[in-house]
Amino acid sequence: MVAALLAGPQPIPIVTAGNTVLRRPAEPYDGQLGDDLLSELIEAMRVCMHEAPGVGLAAPQIGIPLQIAVLEDPATIPPELAAYRHRYPLDFRVIVNPRYTAVGTERAAFYEGCLSVPGYQAVVDRPASVLLECLDENGTAVQEQFDGWSARIVQHETDHLGGTLYLDKALTRSLTDNDQYTSLWGGLPITVARSGLGF
Ligand code: ZN
Repeated sequence: MVAALLAGPQPIPIVTAGNTVLRRPAEPYDGQLGDDLLSELIEAMRVCMHEAPGVGLAAPQIGIPLQIAVLEDPATIPPELAAYRHRYPLDFRVIVNPRYTAVGTERAAFYEGCLSVPGYQAVVDRPASVLLECLDENGTAVQEQFDGWSARIVQHETDHLGGTLYLDKALTRSLTDNDQYTSLWGGLPITVARSGLGF
């Protein structure tokens, strides 16, 4: 299945909401692909994420039900917006069989979107900091704290591997299509959208 996908058109097409692969918990990765195929898959996922473009991609989003995701955020946004969202560059990384737990009680509510739910964004209230426990692509155990926007990416991608989409956790009254987001809410404090849309 993975070999066939890698032999097909690149970037690999992204699976969208409504497909069962996005709704079933993915299987833990335990060497099912072998090292070479895993490396090829990771490279294909990296290309797919960049082309989309997105800041994370989970294997189920290309139809593969394994607990593997890639993350990378160049955070190329205006400095004042980056500061407001605590969004700073996140180097490329692979997370395998990830779990996260909240660190502290602080929460952060911001708009986020998903390559598998194209055209829309909604606010998700999430723990501001999380402890990620996973393996890297070499099978080495990793324990690392993430804060700000990077913590949001870690949670969003890990949630994918459990069959959860961000909309499951979103404040649904905040839902906006990309055009409305750009013209009305983008770049403004979340309180503006909160009072305008009533969430
Ligand atoms: Zn997503």
